[in-house]
Amino acid sequence: VATFAGRAVALFGLGGSGLATARALLAGGADVTAFDDSAASRERAEAAGVRVADLRDVDWSAFAALILSPGVPLTHPEPHWTVKLAQAASVPVIGDIELFCRERTARAPLAPFVAITGTNGKSTTTALIAHLLTHAGREVALGGNIGTAILSLPPPDVARVHVVECSSYQIDLTPSLNPTVGVFLNVTPDHLDRHGDMTHYAAVKERLVAGADIAVIAVEDDWTRAVAARLEADCKPVERVRSDAAEANGWSCEGAKLLRHGVVFADLTGSSSLRGRHNVQNALAASAAVAALGVGLPVIAAGLATFPGLAHRMEQLARRGPVAFINDSKATNADSVEKALAAFPSGVFWIAGGKAKAGGIASLNGLFARISKAYLIGEATESFAATLDGKVEYARCDTLDRALAAAADDAAASGLPEAIVLLSPACASFDQYPNFEARGDHFRRLVAAWLAAHPG
Ligand code: ADP
Repeated sequence: VATFAGRAVALFGLGGSGLATARALLAGGADVTAFDDSAASRERAEAAGVRVADLRDVDWSAFAALILSPGVPLTHPEPHWTVKLAQAASVPVIGDIELFCRERTARAPLAPFVAITGTNGKSTTTALIAHLLTHAGREVALGGNIGTAILSLPPPDVARVHVVECSSYQIDLTPSLNPTVGVFLNVTPDHLDRHGDMTHYAAVKERLVAGADIAVIAVEDDWTRAVAARLEADCKPVERVRSDAAEANGWSCEGAKLLRHGVVFADLTGSSSLRGRHNVQNALAASAAVAALGVGLPVIAAGLATFPGLAHRMEQLARRGPVAFINDSKATNADSVEKALAAFPSGVFWIAGGKAKAGGIASLNGLFARISKAYLIGEATESFAATLDGKVEYARCDTLDRALAAAADDAAASGLPEAIVLLSPACASFDQYPNFEARGDHFRRLVAAWLAAHPG
């Protein structure tokens, strides 16, 4: 990015996106001074040719900006020390999405750019928008909060649609956020640790749609309804989404049927990747977003039907007769597992465990009747066994290999009309895996191997 060509900038946070940012700035001719609290990150950055120096001991008056990694608390409970130093020297504080927006405005202002935010459903909606566009034959660059750092993506271009998930942290660092289409899903109390209060949190998210050419807003809570009303009062184009009712205007639903201006255009009944009312909201918002970019309703309907879902989140890997295999490795706490178990009335062969989190699984008590048997792995084995004792049959399996083998054999032999082999661990993975993705990928391989070893 050429925004800071020939100028000095400070950069704090040298994780994946920080390093990508440093590289992009250097390639654009900026003079970068970077720092991170972690010595390992600093060494990795130096090895990649980035100049590292302790930002406590440098002259801040020379910097044109501080580029902050989105994982760093900006203002709450108090400003990060780099933010205080930047403010004292009147240096603006921005993030990597801001760099992308400035590059786009300078080089390719017509490059299509969809930005998505909300408290829940961001990743699903972002992935679905990318899928619908790909299905419609468009070239897509998918990134932001969902995974790939935005500055690791190909550059903005009229022939390519950037589809970018934005957390409120990232929006906070992006004063010139100006997407072609802005999608605002919902606001519920969350992340208040960072933003302090709900009003500020909602106001941050509002900026994403206020700066957009076209706003897609699910008007199902008081905050989003108020935002839509303000934009409409400003004569801005707003696509209204409602998954709680049928409506003559905008995007709405009747059960799992999706409606545009009161007319059915798609049906999610029987979809394994977009189950539940919250996914009706996500599907309507995604449909509205890609329709705004010129994709027709029949193409959208066909794309919705082939959406594979997000990896590691209630991802159906396979089905063999009555047995379905589901990878929900992302479910690292009991709240997420509650949603997973709630999706199946009975017959769950549940693989759980790993590095336990505070609170354990006691809150799942009301759903235990849905579990045919539990297969426990990792450090959490004994604490989970204690909670399940006398309520749910369980086996101590230690590893995922043994848990999958036992659960799949039991599910296949159960004779149930519907059996679910579910990895939904209620735990972090760090005792046995580098991250939840590695755990889910291992599960995927184990399921494929089990299926190959048990033909038909
Ligand atoms: P995010 O990226 O915002 O965390 P995800 O798409 O990864 O959201 O979904 C995380 C979880 O949030 C899902 O498993 C589901 O239980 C819930 N969820 C998804 N979409 C919505 C929605 N539109 N409204 C409320 N909850 C949702």
